[in-house]
Amino acid sequence: MDHFLYRDGALHAEDVAIADIARTVGTPFYVYSAATLTRHFRLFDEALSWAPSHLVCFAMKSLSNQAVLKLLGDLGAGMDVVSGGEYARARAAGVPGERIVFSGVGKTRTEMRAALEGGIRQFNLESEPEMEALNEVALSLGTVAPVTVRVNPDVDARTHEKIATGRKGDKFGIPIARASEVYARIAALPGLKAIGIDVHIGSQLTQLEPFEQAYLKVADLTERLRAEGHEITRLDLGGGLGIPYTRSNEAPPLPVEYGQLVERTLGHLGCEIEIEPGRLISGNAGLMVSQVIYVKEGESTRFLILDGAMNDLIRPAMYGAWHDIIPVAEAAPGVEQQLYDIVGPVCESGDTFAKGRALPPMASGDLVAFRSAGAYGAVMSSEYNTRPLIPEVLVQGDHFAVIRARPTFDEIIARDTIPEWL
Ligand SMILES: *Cc1c(COP(=O)(O)O)cnc(C)c1O
Repeated sequence: MDHFLYRDGALHAEDVAIADIARTVGTPFYVYSAATLTRHFRLFDEALSWAPSHLVCFAMKSLSNQAVLKLLGDLGAGMDVVSGGEYARARAAGVPGERIVFSGVGKTRTEMRAALEGGIRQFNLESEPEMEALNEVALSLGTVAPVTVRVNPDVDARTHEKIATGRKGDKFGIPIARASEVYARIAALPGLKAIGIDVHIGSQLTQLEPFEQAYLKVADLTERLRAEGHEITRLDLGGGLGIPYTRSNEAPPLPVEYGQLVERTLGHLGCEIEIEPGRLISGNAGLMVSQVIYVKEGESTRFLILDGAMNDLIRPAMYGAWHDIIPVAEAAPGVEQQLYDIVGPVCESGDTFAKGRALPPMASGDLVAFRSAGAYGAVMSSEYNTRPLIPEVLVQGDHFAVIRARPTFDEIIARDTIPEWL
């Protein structure tokens, strides 16, 4: 559920008309709904309320604007970070170190040091060389780093090839069969303290079974490691719960059902539960709004050429992803729809958002909205073709604010330096 609805024929974000935002900030832009972000966070928080203690760590790689982090942080969210930059962003937004978990296969010593100095809840380790490196960094700072090991349970998440992460052969985690050996090694390293187990099998999962398979393996592993003398008190179960990208397809499981699955598979262990949802919190909390530049009648195809492009929202080009694309001015009842190929102005054919989409007759200047664009949208954008990063806007109730401004051409150009000797 989200808060983007038509009122009197005009698409709104909560109580603000999208067309009013477009008039103020220009197009294209991203707009997020604070009520939707809040609602999604709370659904997860409530779904884990059975656990002795729990923390919902927002996977901020999905949407990392400071305002969004502040909003979620103030609700009690932790953050799952995957780089030193994300760690710095989370701290700058006021999230305390004890609510930040550090994930990722390639953490550098510099990133480790910054997190240990600034405060960190735990590192999720993914390889033995990384263990050795973190041990050395922690010792050099005279501290002990709390860690979990990300295990690879060899489960197929049945999702898009590029975002499945829990199969043998994926670059993530340590094979679950080697866990005993790895935890024994950690116990021998004075700079590390193993506190739990981590698992994350992929993104945009639309069924519970892969989670169930993975979590049953984690339950077994918890008991095995405890029998071997390790204190396992925390389970980090990753993110990955999918969202509906079309309103017509079958509905993915709800957070409450996911929470029940976690309780059923892992509840008996008495562990603190952590999860790292990204997309389900941010995805349907955002739209990308774009304006029609031209309607071009091709030989066999009618093109809708927008001012938004693949550099602003890369998911269709990169993953073949579907976004519902809807008119900001609702079609009058009974109007006959037309089919459009919806494209951006970037100089490659990959800059196609959708083919053969039905929309009411559109004209230059009309606005369209891409639904489900809150996750992996703005964060993956670039300035390809020297197209400025597009603004981000946050709506709450009847007011809105620009939370990232569109840079000017001068600002973009000023980032380059021409060497003196040229
Ligand atoms: C990407 C990622 C997530 C979030 O995945 P979503 O599908 O957005 O929920 C969580 N944990 C880790 C380690 C990730 O890499």
